[in-house]
Amino acid sequence: MIVLGIESTAHTFGVGIMNSEGEVLANIFDSYSSTEGGMVPDKVVQHHEEVAEKVLADALSKAKVSWEEIEFIAYSAGPGLDPALWAGYKKAQKWSEKYGKKLVGVNHCAAHLSIGKEINELEDPVYVYVSGVNTQVITFDGGKYRVMGETLDIGLGNMLDKFGRVIGLGFPAGPDIEKLAKKGKYIELPYVVKGMDTSFSGILSKVKQLYEKGVSKEDLCFSVQEVCFAMLAEVSERALAHTSKKELLLVGGVGANKRFCEMLAIMCQEREAKFYKVPMDLARDNAAMIAWEGFLRKDTHGDEGVKTFWRVDEV
Ligand code: AMP
Ligand code: MG
Repeated sequence: MIVLGIESTAHTFGVGIMNSEGEVLANIFDSYSSTEGGMVPDKVVQHHEEVAEKVLADALSKAKVSWEEIEFIAYSAGPGLDPALWAGYKKAQKWSEKYGKKLVGVNHCAAHLSIGKEINELEDPVYVYVSGVNTQVITFDGGKYRVMGETLDIGLGNMLDKFGRVIGLGFPAGPDIEKLAKKGKYIELPYVVKGMDTSFSGILSKVKQLYEKGVSKEDLCFSVQEVCFAMLAEVSERALAHTSKKELLLVGGVGANKRFCEMLAIMCQEREAKFYKVPMDLARDNAAMIAWEGFLRKDTHGDEGVKTFWRVDEV
């Protein structure tokens, strides 16, 4: 069975094609970026509308499949940026009508987790899901996902992007922060873990203040990374300890950060667990994962409309 997936929860518009054996036949995306202003909703919608048909054509040609071979269309129903979700849903509806394919709306977060589990052939990992909007430690228990801990305010990726704007970096800022951090040294920042939850907005305010007082970008980048990643390593370790699970899987765009991976890998090694990540094109927002999640949910999900605040523990 071949499934076509559509992703459009935030900056990325993507079309992915997978077969039921878990093979990625195509994973094409085009992401909105900007030198200033962050993610402006109207511009994101405009971007998605402009690139959609080209992304679709590229995906079909990469996968060498025709619409006849495609069983159904899976799309990201939520959670996400509302106007971006609608842009994707409208495309999904249009292609569904035009090519006579049924719609399967899936949860974007669940898709990040499922593709990571499939690619790494895992049994039952603890998931650390760190993207722009989301920062959650998740386990699967009693037939559903459980959020063991999460950010109480903004996601770590968004925090890095906001911090990046303050110090003059474009969007997304994560990769440049990682580069600058290599030249920095440690200065003290608030470390905010409450039980299993984390919070990043206070750290953001603090680094803004320190930057205005003349602390270097490099030192701030280094310290932000060390503190935030250590906070997540702490809650991830506690999740492994509580559940006695032996696999830790990092998903989401912040997972591109080498220092973050290194810290989680060391923590896992010290407690005889195994650390896994996902190749970047499947870890970031992408549509192959949406196709795969659609395949897993085809019997229970249908046209779900748009679900802007759909939590992974409600799936
Ligand atoms: P996603 O929403 O999963 O596509 O992830 C996007 C987020 O990942 C953005 O907030 C980026 O700033 C962040 N990001 C991307 N690359 C890196 C990196 N190397 N280090 C830290 N954050 C990153
Ligand atoms: Mg995402």
